Amino acid sequence: MSESTAFRAVDLIRKKRDGAELSAAEIKYFVRGSTTGEIPDYQAAAWLMAALIRGLTRAETAALTDAMLRSGEVLDFSDLSAKKVDKHSTGGVGDKTSLVLAPVIAAGGLVVPMISGRGLGHTGGTLDKLESIPGFNVNLPVSEFRRVLEKCGCSMIGQTAQIAPADRKFYALRDVTGTVESPYLICASIMSKKLSEGIDGLVLDVKTGSGAFMKKEEDAVFLASLMAETGQRMGKSVVALITDMNQPLGRMAGNSVEVIECVEVLRGEGPKDLRELCLQLCAWMFVLGERTTSVEEGKELAAKLIASGEALEKFREMVGLQGGDVGAIEDVTRLPKAKHKKDVVSSRDGYVGAVNCEAVGTACVVLGGGREKKEDAIDHAVGLEIHKRIGDRVAIGEPICTMFYNSEDKAAQAQALIENSYHLSETSAIQPTLIHRVINNSGETN
Ligand code: URA
Repeated sequence: MSESTAFRAVDLIRKKRDGAELSAAEIKYFVRGSTTGEIPDYQAAAWLMAALIRGLTRAETAALTDAMLRSGEVLDFSDLSAKKVDKHSTGGVGDKTSLVLAPVIAAGGLVVPMISGRGLGHTGGTLDKLESIPGFNVNLPVSEFRRVLEKCGCSMIGQTAQIAPADRKFYALRDVTGTVESPYLICASIMSKKLSEGIDGLVLDVKTGSGAFMKKEEDAVFLASLMAETGQRMGKSVVALITDMNQPLGRMAGNSVEVIECVEVLRGEGPKDLRELCLQLCAWMFVLGERTTSVEEGKELAAKLIASGEALEKFREMVGLQGGDVGAIEDVTRLPKAKHKKDVVSSRDGYVGAVNCEAVGTACVVLGGGREKKEDAIDHAVGLEIHKRIGDRVAIGEPICTMFYNSEDKAAQAQALIENSYHLSETSAIQPTLIHRVINNSGETN
């Protein structure tokens, strides 16, 4: 009996509906049939809903990830002698570390084949940020991606149609059937795409807090453990850092303004929290890529590559190879700049006690820095500069944030969102810890 006639979709739906565990062969059949269209969308959607309600075992999650990964092209860079590593973030506000990590790691001798995404909801996306550099092409074919990797060790592109087509199909169905939220389906979606890059190691930055998709730490930890264990089952080294997203990362949120901040970090400057997170993530990438034997050593190496200017040089090289204006990295005034700026000021004295970080991200989207509808074009010039962080003292009339904008109407809406998102208290609040915990390959925390 051929594989396509060995199972019936309706039986697999019933099996999951009743809470039983599917075999790897059954999952493979389901993924392949859904991708080719042999299994119609209504049956695929019914199975996804059963999976959301019943959950998946760790073995099922790994089998689903593997089948989704194999639904398309799996890149093979095994002829490049250096280890290949990457980082994935679950998304946040001002979350711009990829633009720093890729050149630092490549300057350290490893290869970073980074396939990134666009902004989602209130969070920014790496591709949108890169596209604020005039001429930068994120749509390279795989042959060009390889050429850039061979020349400079890092390249950053968008997902191609050939990579994990099962995820494309499932994501579109999940989006309209209330099944996006399942941690098992999120894990398979993210890991199938990331592992198709042909990497040896993956560092996950799982955000938690008011600006993250996983607001509760326990949910972030569950997803992180699931992804780390799935990676291990698939023979990859994976580590997950649970990091804070109760306020924007760094000072800038937007697109060109975030590129400028990354260039500052690559010049050895930039805000402390952003620099520290970049160094930590780099350190873990160096450890997984066996470039250093400890996180401390990895951090030192990353700091050294920044201080020597080698990391910034790598960034310039990558920008040039992908068609971007290298001059704009030296002279950032060549990047898109908004016509107007305006401070949002505090209406009273106090200390910043809490920030609704999702609302701050939404303010940035409203200005035009993100998409309210899928078809919206991004305004790369607009954004926010955050002046006050949790725990900081604020006086009445003092700026909390500066908006860079091109439309008065949009600025008025964004201002209202920002004013309502800063909660002041009488006494100083404690700054949240940047890195909450680290979860390794076997799902253990330390
Ligand atoms: N990002 C993804 O790539 N997939 C998900 O399911 C959720 C977030």
